[in-house]
Amino acid sequence: MRGANNRTVKSMNRTAALQYIRKQGQASRADIAAYTRLSFTAVKNMIDELVSYRLIGEVGYDESSGGRKPLLYKLKADRFYAIGLHLSVSRIHVAVLDLEGRVHAHYETATDQDKLRSDAIVLQLIGCIEEAIRLSDVDRGLILGIGLAIPGPLDPFEGVVLSPPNMQGLAGVPLKRRIADHFGIAAFIEKDADLIALGEYWHGAARGKQNVFYLDADIGIGSGMIFGGQLHHGSPYGAGEVGHGTIHLDGPRCNCGNYGCLEAVASGIAIERRAGEELRRGADAPYRESYLADEKSVSLYTILEEAGAGNGSGDGDALSKQLLLESARYVGIAVGNVVHLLMPEIVIIGGTLPYAYPPYFEHARDIALNRIFAAFSDKVRIVKAELGMLGGAIGAGTLVLEHFFAKDVSEWADMEPPLQVQQ
Ligand SMILES: [Zn+2]
Repeated sequence: MRGANNRTVKSMNRTAALQYIRKQGQASRADIAAYTRLSFTAVKNMIDELVSYRLIGEVGYDESSGGRKPLLYKLKADRFYAIGLHLSVSRIHVAVLDLEGRVHAHYETATDQDKLRSDAIVLQLIGCIEEAIRLSDVDRGLILGIGLAIPGPLDPFEGVVLSPPNMQGLAGVPLKRRIADHFGIAAFIEKDADLIALGEYWHGAARGKQNVFYLDADIGIGSGMIFGGQLHHGSPYGAGEVGHGTIHLDGPRCNCGNYGCLEAVASGIAIERRAGEELRRGADAPYRESYLADEKSVSLYTILEEAGAGNGSGDGDALSKQLLLESARYVGIAVGNVVHLLMPEIVIIGGTLPYAYPPYFEHARDIALNRIFAAFSDKVRIVKAELGMLGGAIGAGTLVLEHFFAKDVSEWADMEPPLQVQQ
């Protein structure tokens, strides 16, 4: 028993040290000793072991310290890779991340709208992953797993998509198992907005923060949360559906079946619907004639383009700007509500709407700050997402890394045949 306990403690220390190096980017033996509170000899042995697994390597000396300069260690970024896929209504992004979470290769394509109506979309996802692996030129034996960022609601533990309002073809599909079976490697799934939050936490606007709220303003509206450095699923799961909280008492019907949801009044879908209402009512816009001839000719992207998004100035068609700022106002109010409820360290707003139309973010932030208790409004940080449209894929790949870094290294560091020795 004693031996088993020692092994467990040793394994936990080794896992903690590796996580520390991963989080810090690089660390000396003294840094790791201070963090783990282990003796210098124990740390030396542990580092030697991690080096022998080729998970870390020497990176040089810490020039900032006086006296004898300590040797620094960092992850061997090309030791393993993780794949992250983000499926949205309009695009599919796949990123191949190295062990440090950097994008090694990425593939992007339009979501096949015909396939999206049924589980045939799974075939497109498989094709996209294959394409990303081919582009990356990475040995398949070095791929730890595949992370999937999919619109909720879904069951992240069973890996089943439940009933995404804008993606009914995936309802009830055991997506995690189908992807894992096809590729013969581990697969993981989480709600898209949760994984964008995870990506921003590791590599974007929330670096160094522990409590993060992310709101995604896109075709739909979603949100994800990290508390104490961990994704917050709720119990058992389903947290973060802020897009389906009622925000307009007499509002229109939402794709989820409810009325007046944030998504029903502020999402990309809502903006398209609002444009139609205004044009039929006689409002003018550069796309008015085109819309009256064929309603389908005007999409969210037309509206974003005409609002001035194309040249980044934000100074374009009045109706388009009005509709986008109307959406931003609702999003700002929702953010204010969330801050009063959760008081996160940082709120991140991302998605096509703020990316494509910069005044959107500023308006949403100002509305939120105006509504937050004055005593708190100078303490909460509301910022724009940093990872852009690749955030979901980066987060999904990061999810894979999270799972492997949480295991004992002996469980995964020997999972493939020995590599050629790299000098
Ligand atoms: Zn709804």
